Amino acid sequence: MTHNSTLLGGGITVDLGAIARNWKALDTISGRALTGAVVKADAYSLGIKAVSRTLYSAGARFFFVATPDEGMALREALPLAHIFVLNGLVPRTARDYAAYNLMPVLASMGQLTEWLDFCLNRGAAAPAALHFDTGFNRLGFRVKEAELVKREIEQPRFEPQMIMSHFACADQPSHEMTRKQNGLFQGVLNLFPNIPASLANSAATMTSKDYHYDMVRPGIAVYGGRAVNGRPNPMANVIRMEAPILQIKEARVGETVGYGAQYRLRRDTRIAVISIGYADGFFRSLSGIGGQVGGKVALNGALAPVIGRVSMDMTAIDITDVPGFIQPGDQVEVLGDSVTIDDQADAARTIGYEILTTLNGRFQRQYVNVPDGVSLD
Ligand SMILES: *Cc1c(COP(=O)(O)O)cnc(C)c1O
Repeated sequence: MTHNSTLLGGGITVDLGAIARNWKALDTISGRALTGAVVKADAYSLGIKAVSRTLYSAGARFFFVATPDEGMALREALPLAHIFVLNGLVPRTARDYAAYNLMPVLASMGQLTEWLDFCLNRGAAAPAALHFDTGFNRLGFRVKEAELVKREIEQPRFEPQMIMSHFACADQPSHEMTRKQNGLFQGVLNLFPNIPASLANSAATMTSKDYHYDMVRPGIAVYGGRAVNGRPNPMANVIRMEAPILQIKEARVGETVGYGAQYRLRRDTRIAVISIGYADGFFRSLSGIGGQVGGKVALNGALAPVIGRVSMDMTAIDITDVPGFIQPGDQVEVLGDSVTIDDQADAARTIGYEILTTLNGRFQRQYVNVPDGVSLD
């Protein structure tokens, strides 16, 4: 939670009740499979502590972070959760993982050897997961290493908690890569019949039960983002971000707006300057310049387009066609029910994930609909 002392400051409101509802909806979709939750990058920048405690109170017990530091922060928030570290084992830190009861998702023979040596030295197995690369070419053992991995883990009393892989194209449901990766994954699982398996991110969870296996690992859908392209998004919106109007002015046709003087007014225009810029995660690619349409914000039930370049701390919008009385201090919706993270992502030519995870600027974050018993301290 950042501190904000200005009266006109903007804010981010995070609806924890909506996060709990989204997770429960995914838990229903996943049927008999367990439903984990991915809370990396500070829970997609919505706050790992509040979000993970909300998910725990909704029933989640298995959590995925990217780095061991995120795992330690999560351990402080949730003493009893099962925590997987997706980025694997950072060399020479096995002792720290064990001290915080974090499970590395081991991805290479080097990591596996280091973890087995660690277990051997302490005289007890420490839980971990195994990540197989079924075609992503990011982290993971190669599929053809599976036999070797199987032999390695038979030596000491080492019990992997999970066999994992990750899809490259699950957001495009008809992509042939997904079926191919699933086939390779099944081949790996045949060698490890008694170890639970996990393959699905949000998109795969929502696409087919063939991908659910023993545990699904949704992230973006929990936070209300669109997981599957080209389909209506059934998740509840979680976030509302508002920025105040600093100044309103009337400009004449032919004048230009903003840095570079790249936007020339085609009519007399009412401009509102709002207190948000690229330093707040309002991307410069949302600029409205020339013929190119930029981002929009919502105000009094209408959408107002960005005009000129987004600057570091401020953005100009055209409010000529917005109804009602508008004055400095009024709040403009930058993200929310009227302008979703995916609307803003499309306008910025990026994805909702990047919109969310860059929202860690100056805006005060506040939580609403905090579930009973969830502490934010
Ligand atoms: C980030 C991540 C997820 C969650 O993906 P979403 O698309 O946000 O649901 C699942 N698994 C792995 C390995 C990841 O890196």
